[in-house]
Amino acid sequence: MLTTRLARDGAGLNSLAPNLYRLTLRPPLAVPRMESLTEMGAGNAVQNVSLGEEIVRRVNELAAISEDGDKLTRIFLTKELRAASDVILGWMREAGMSAHLDAIGNVCGRYDGEQPGAPCLMLGSHYDTVRDAGKWDGPLGVITAIVCVSDLNRRGKRLPFAIEVVGFADEEGVRFASTLLGSRAMAGTFDESVLNTRDRDGVSMRDALLEFGLDPDHIGAAARARRELLAYLELHIEQGPVLEARNLPVGVVSAIAGATRLAARLTGMAGHAGTVPMALRRDALTGAAECIGAIEQFCRTDEDGLVGTVGYIQARPGATNVIPGEVSFTIDMRAPTDMHRKRAVADVVRQIEAIAKRRQLALQLDVTHENRTVPCAPWLKDQIAQAIAAEGLSTFELPSGAGHDGMAMIDIADVGMIFVRCRGGISHHPDEHVELADADAGARVLLRVIEHFKPRAA
Ligand SMILES: [Zn+2]
Repeated sequence: MLTTRLARDGAGLNSLAPNLYRLTLRPPLAVPRMESLTEMGAGNAVQNVSLGEEIVRRVNELAAISEDGDKLTRIFLTKELRAASDVILGWMREAGMSAHLDAIGNVCGRYDGEQPGAPCLMLGSHYDTVRDAGKWDGPLGVITAIVCVSDLNRRGKRLPFAIEVVGFADEEGVRFASTLLGSRAMAGTFDESVLNTRDRDGVSMRDALLEFGLDPDHIGAAARARRELLAYLELHIEQGPVLEARNLPVGVVSAIAGATRLAARLTGMAGHAGTVPMALRRDALTGAAECIGAIEQFCRTDEDGLVGTVGYIQARPGATNVIPGEVSFTIDMRAPTDMHRKRAVADVVRQIEAIAKRRQLALQLDVTHENRTVPCAPWLKDQIAQAIAAEGLSTFELPSGAGHDGMAMIDIADVGMIFVRCRGGISHHPDEHVELADADAGARVLLRVIEHFKPRAA
């Protein structure tokens, strides 16, 4: 018996250029690095050299604000998030920005352009964390953006457009099991039904907002219009090992990979481990093992960034001397384009169906989650790549397997992302680490993108 249910294909497919990993090697610099710093027009290279130091100092300062003494945990709408928002608002004002907390708790700073009221280049990332987190995931992007604006401000430099910096209050979704709450509110796609969900202590989001000093009935006030934004740009740690393997400090993100999650259940027949001959068994666990092996094999033979993971499995009845009668497991599949992912999911489903049929196991397969791929805008990728090259670094494009605020911001702006190398690709872990020199390289690239930014031709 096969009862396969797949979610209907909703939005149109976003297709990407096939070249997802694109590397342009540059010859070694003939001039020392300092040379390229002075040409930035700073008139004071020493200040630019210290961008990385300033970033590391502030990342450490923010990491000290945690609900756990020796671990970093900063969750949506807690008093620690509030304390962190005060620190960030202070940094924004010091950097010459007007700053406020918006209706969902995002910290928002604005550095006006030559003319007041001009549309903005928006820079941002999130300032909430997972539990027992690393200190770079999120804060690096918020802090680097502020440090760049601070550098412009020191030089008295205004641009033909405004710059806004946003620290999103919830990206990780730890507290209310719903991610991107900050950026969704800003994009005007916040789902009000989430207000009634409760955290693990039974506190509803509505009450948590009130406690935080915000009005749950006015979340709509956080929404921004497309015409106010020229683009959304985010700098973030890679959270994977690709840049490190390539010995590169920064990279251009090609797309934020979409994901499909499925829940599978195989049902056979439980029985006595001693009395049922092998040929007569309908063992759900050996069937699941074959499925898991097939998923791995299928993804390993794909060379275009497909990844598949079985991260959860449960066997019933779950006893040493009983043949497993029922097994549940999950499948998470991601690829850099929607077309690629959907084709891969369909192939994997066919293989699982064939395995179940051959082993006389009943199969139920449900899509539990699906999100689209968010391609980074080619015109923004070009400007980021030009800035990287101008810094004397090799340009390299890679997709993001992890989700980011750009997934929500795409609804009101074109999205670009810069990745910064992190040690060992480790993230969502206290060992997460970025070298000072890499933080500095990321900041110099971002500053260059800002100063040379050309809005998309209308
Ligand atoms: Zn993040």
